[in-house]
Amino acid sequence: MPTCLIIGAGLAGLTAARELTQHHWQVILLDKGRGVGGRMATRRIGTSRADHGAQYFSARTPEFQQLVHSMKEAGVVQEWNLAVGDSHPRFIGSGGMSSVPKYLAEGLDIRTGERVIHIQQENSGCTVRTETGTTYRADTLLITIPAPQASILLSDSGIQLTAHERSVFDTISYQPCIAVIAVLNQPSGIPAPGNIRYAEGPISWVADNQQKGIASDPITVTIHASPQYSREHLEGDLNEVGQDLLHHLSEWIPAGSVASYQVHRWRYSLADQRYPEPYLRFSGPFTMLLGGDGFGMGNVEGAFQSGLQMARALIV
Ligand SMILES: Cc1cc2nc3c(=O)[nH]c(=O)nc-3n(C[C@H](O)[C@H](O)[C@H](O)COP(=O)(O)OP(=O)(O)OC[C@H]3O[C@@H](n4cnc5c(N)ncnc54)[C@H](O)[C@@H]3O)c2cc1C
Repeated sequence: MPTCLIIGAGLAGLTAARELTQHHWQVILLDKGRGVGGRMATRRIGTSRADHGAQYFSARTPEFQQLVHSMKEAGVVQEWNLAVGDSHPRFIGSGGMSSVPKYLAEGLDIRTGERVIHIQQENSGCTVRTETGTTYRADTLLITIPAPQASILLSDSGIQLTAHERSVFDTISYQPCIAVIAVLNQPSGIPAPGNIRYAEGPISWVADNQQKGIASDPITVTIHASPQYSREHLEGDLNEVGQDLLHHLSEWIPAGSVASYQVHRWRYSLADQRYPEPYLRFSGPFTMLLGGDGFGMGNVEGAFQSGLQMARALIV
């Protein structure tokens, strides 16, 4: 039975793992996080929730439409008729965005709390070492972490890249995003359907998670700072940054209605520059592929497609 290690249990890694498992590969996913899903992240706040990474997704390709359809049937996702300016349906996880990766993770062998720090060739395959000191071995390695992080991992592992491989890494870049989750003691004034997108200024997005249908008591809102603001304030005092962003939204969220807030720093949010192919196959002595949302169409659907295409490239 062919064996595969996948670094990263976000949408790309989970999709690849499901496809390979269906074709009788033995797959282990390693993720540094406490749970699965990566940037499809939902925070629990008491009995309520807030999505602080990806907010919604579209499904334009047949394979993803098929998966979304089956997740809709299973009650995992639902439509959100939000104000974005076109008529494409947008989907959300029914219990927050993390419902999607949790559903996809069912039945897979996933080791969380395992940050991969070293990759090494061994015979015709590879071994990877994690921060906990554990070593894993497989014939094939899929890397689905953001390309800048993958670049550091490969360099720390002493893996030499060809000029082409280096140029792929140089193509991909990510925007940072500072996210604020505010807990309110009264409903927000954000108009239906519960989202506002800003073209300029310090904020790019605000969503009322109650109107979105994932938060009831307490009410929560999610605020995403613009890429420029996030870049300028990424290393700043997060408490002050949170206060500043909330201040800009006082029209919809009066100061007296904020019971508490938390701030999250995403160093990699949306891949604004991507490599057009769905993945990169390395030319080294063992089979190693790099994918994720830095490849192809980007976003949640792009991560899915990248994972699927990586798996299909391995299945003969
Ligand atoms: C603030 C924000 C807003 C967004 N909004 C949207 C949106 O509205 N719509 C949309 O479609 N997309 C949105 N996105 C992007 C979307 O979330 C991503 O495109 C998608 O989830 C990427 O999936 P992935 O599997 O490629 O990567 P990830 O989800 O990042 O998964 C990679 C995984 O690798 C793990 N990892 C990293 N390094 C290591 C290591 N060394 N060892 C082990 N594990 C490691 C991480 O913990 C993570 O779980 C947003 C993202 C953010 C952050």
